[in-house]
Amino acid sequence: MDEVKKPKKPIIFYYGIVLIILLLFNLFAMPSLMSRQIKQVDYGTFMAMTEQGDVGLVEVQENQIVFTDKAEKQIYKTGIMDDPELTQRLYDCGAKFSKDIVEEASPIISFIVSWILPLVIFFALGQFLSKKMMNKAGGANSMMFNMGKSNAKIYVKSSDGIKFSDVAGEDEAKESLREIVDYLHDPKKYEQIGASMPKGILLVGPPGTGKTMLAKAVAGESNVPFFSMSGSEFVEMFVGMGASKVRDLFKQAKEKSPCIVFIDEIDAIGQKRDGRIGGNDEREQTLNQLLTEMDGFEGNTGVIILAATNRPETLDPALTRPGRFDRRVPVELPDLKGREEILRVHAKKIKTDVGIDYTRIARMASGASGAELANIVNEAALRAVRDNRKFATQADLEESIEVVIAGYQKKNAILTDKEKLIVAYHEIGHALVAAKQSNSAPVQKITIVPRTSGALGYTMQVEEGNHYLMSREEIENKIATYTGGRAAEQLVFNSVTTGASNDIEQATKLARAMITRFGMSDEFGMVALEAVTNQYLGGDSTLACSAETQTEIDRQVIALIKKQNEKAMKILVENRAKLDELAKFLYERETITGEEFMEILNT
Ligand code: ADP
Ligand code: ZN
Repeated sequence: MDEVKKPKKPIIFYYGIVLIILLLFNLFAMPSLMSRQIKQVDYGTFMAMTEQGDVGLVEVQENQIVFTDKAEKQIYKTGIMDDPELTQRLYDCGAKFSKDIVEEASPIISFIVSWILPLVIFFALGQFLSKKMMNKAGGANSMMFNMGKSNAKIYVKSSDGIKFSDVAGEDEAKESLREIVDYLHDPKKYEQIGASMPKGILLVGPPGTGKTMLAKAVAGESNVPFFSMSGSEFVEMFVGMGASKVRDLFKQAKEKSPCIVFIDEIDAIGQKRDGRIGGNDEREQTLNQLLTEMDGFEGNTGVIILAATNRPETLDPALTRPGRFDRRVPVELPDLKGREEILRVHAKKIKTDVGIDYTRIARMASGASGAELANIVNEAALRAVRDNRKFATQADLEESIEVVIAGYQKKNAILTDKEKLIVAYHEIGHALVAAKQSNSAPVQKITIVPRTSGALGYTMQVEEGNHYLMSREEIENKIATYTGGRAAEQLVFNSVTTGASNDIEQATKLARAMITRFGMSDEFGMVALEAVTNQYLGGDSTLACSAETQTEIDRQVIALIKKQNEKAMKILVENRAKLDELAKFLYERETITGEEFMEILNT
């Protein structure tokens, strides 16, 4: 998005010209101006003039003699000589001894005259010229915009503005936003029937899913100006500036209506005001101002405010009540089809091999956000360049998924043989437990090349399909799979390593959720013991029960995981031969695909 209207280059150009003129002025004009006032002469001339009685005023200074002619028109100066009779001679010739013949400019003054003054002039001129220029640019189609106060960047209608077609997937979100576009095209239609558009729309979803893009696309589709500002910008710099920035933003928006105002990360200012002592005054003032402004303009002024957040539950209820941000558009992580579309959109920007299987790549990149997919495509192009190829291939794209999700291959981190073997058994342990429970390929691919992210191995899970419900058995199986890695280590090496810390975390999370949120514990039944607070950023939760219940929850979590761990161990013991065979394969080749895995398992 480069259509920010800041006429940068021309201003620099004008500044440059002014600077050059001033430098020339300083070099040539200034000295001659000065010398008209004081003429430097040699001592001989001075003596001759004294002799002829042509000296009017004279002042003997520390290191020079300043004097005038008889008529006191011209000022001269000359150096000091060791001349003891000078005073007498001057007196004889009728010169008047004087002070302050010329107020010799002090170093400070001369510095100001020769450097500061030109700079001041230079800036004044530059400012003047740039203003003139911007007026000229703005006169015709009112693109001129005072950016001095609120830092809202204005994006103007431009032929290459983002359109809905640039945002792949997200069909539901686009559908809800299309109405806004329609309204901005023809507000009368809505006014006639008495309908008023929502003033504020909240785009809610995890980071990198295209919320900003969607907001820009609404502006692009409706062909209206787009003001964007991040919530944190309101409160960042100077205390007390937030509220005035908000006021300013809305003032500008109303002048430019119809238009779209986009506030990214609105949770930075819109958090619940909690009246705590020492709370964030600055933020609350800013929020209050925002609420006031939103109430201040009528429903149909043509200013639509879009805001994005990934923490909708932290927003102040005042912000989400009817009349403010009362419409919520979920922007979720893309599904398989969405991922494929996003990959295709971004692949258009790079040169690719013919016949790339985007579905396959989309399937492999399960769980990736739009931003990550864009990054995957770019990584693929970079990889092609590194290999001196003219276009990116299927292999580039596949390797890039691992790079983006797990980090670069760590070339110099060499696992010791023992470690490598442990990692191989660990990863196969997970996969084998999963495969035996579901009777299908558990993974797309396992590699045991260390990654810069710190992971020693990387398992690419299979796409689970769009599946919104999970049964109790499925969750239990999943927990068993998580424990499978550690169980394999224990079984084979009879010792345990630190490699299972993430598995432990995941298994515990699932087990806890079963008991506290999904009502899957026989004892507690359908009682919510925990509330999720941070749905889009990892999903933290807070307990809502007594201390005794907590103790009981912990006891049940431990029991549940223990049971699943035993189940995993049993599967591994029963399939010990396959475990060894698969681990050996992975150890030797460092990578195993889902097909290879199933082939070995089923022969
Ligand atoms: P958000 O505001 O939700 O954090 P952005 O809109 O800033 O995410 O998206 C970041 C980048 O990710 C975009 O510039 C774009 O390249 C890519 N992207 C995200 N979602 C999509 C999508 N649905 N279609 C195409 N590109 C996308
Ligand atoms: Zn593991």
